Amino acid sequence: MPERPVKGKVAIIGAGDVGATTAYALMQSGSVSEIALIDIDHEKAEGEAMDLRHGAAFVKPVDIYAGDYEDAWDADIVVITAGASQKPGETRLELLERNVDIFEDMVPRITEGLNDNAILLVVTNPVDILSYVTWKVSDLPWQRVIGTGTVLDTSRFRNVLSKNCNVDARNIHAYVIGEHGDSEVLVWSATHMAGVPFDDYCPVCEEDCDLQNRELIAEEVRGAAYEIIDRKGATYYAIALAATDIIESVVRNENSILTVSTLMDGQHGVEDVYLSTPTVLNRGGVRRIVDLDLSDSEREQFVESAKVLRSELDKLDI
Ligand code: NAD
Repeated sequence: MPERPVKGKVAIIGAGDVGATTAYALMQSGSVSEIALIDIDHEKAEGEAMDLRHGAAFVKPVDIYAGDYEDAWDADIVVITAGASQKPGETRLELLERNVDIFEDMVPRITEGLNDNAILLVVTNPVDILSYVTWKVSDLPWQRVIGTGTVLDTSRFRNVLSKNCNVDARNIHAYVIGEHGDSEVLVWSATHMAGVPFDDYCPVCEEDCDLQNRELIAEEVRGAAYEIIDRKGATYYAIALAATDIIESVVRNENSILTVSTLMDGQHGVEDVYLSTPTVLNRGGVRRIVDLDLSDSEREQFVESAKVLRSELDKLDI
């Protein structure tokens, strides 16, 4: 009997904390059959692949190996987690310029022989800027270049609501949009519990909670990464699960709605910048962007968030 064709190949560029943990989450999901780990530190990629492979007996069959850029060419989705980390005394802009240089070198190596259906998923920070850079450098249709955007922040928001409302996070519909960063916007007006608008649910729920102070909640969501980095130096578990959710939506053609970072084309008056808003994702990448009915204040914050990103992009030579 002929062998079944390999289905679901993911290439992960950067086998650091985020790349390796994404491979681990993905391996356990059982939704792909091949994972290539690619890093300039080939030995590190090899070590991670070996360690992961030794769990083979506990998961569905998946081929995990350390590879080179060529191994990304036949992938369904290429996940970019590679990047430089901040040097002592280095400004955010200097770090960004170094990462842009890395991307200008790396992206053409990925796209050189890339198949026509592959999706690029950027995780490296600042994710919205580097997703835009990847789109520009790759010359791919914008629908096929996305960033993890505020998928993680949206999960953090749902977790905070879950704790306060004493309701399973999976039953809470809530979104964080805009920049993955300080200017992100919590969309209270579109938050629902079992189809009930949050503003109607909240006053009658009778839980003892902190939700009266929404700015405090926003600070908890926005400040989450700083709090974790202060304590353990990096974040990687939740982002790995967020990336896995996005990868599954693509590889399994799920048409899931996720707040990935994508190219704006006039949404709420914003264009030519990558940022997050709920987006239908499938095998072709972005199928459509969902137009949220924002309150006036949320719209203003979203436009401000876009301005922050545009001004960062204007500082770059791209
Ligand atoms: P890390 O330093 O542990 O790993 C980065 C890896 O990239 C290293 O192994 C390094 O060797 C590799 N690398 C550097 N240049 C490369 C190149 N040109 N080609 C291939 N590999 C290269 O960092 P990390 O903790 O894994 O974080 C990775 C990125 O993910 C960072 O930018 C971080 O800020 C970002 N991150 C994003 C989110 C999000 O929500 N978007 C969340 C957490 C972390």
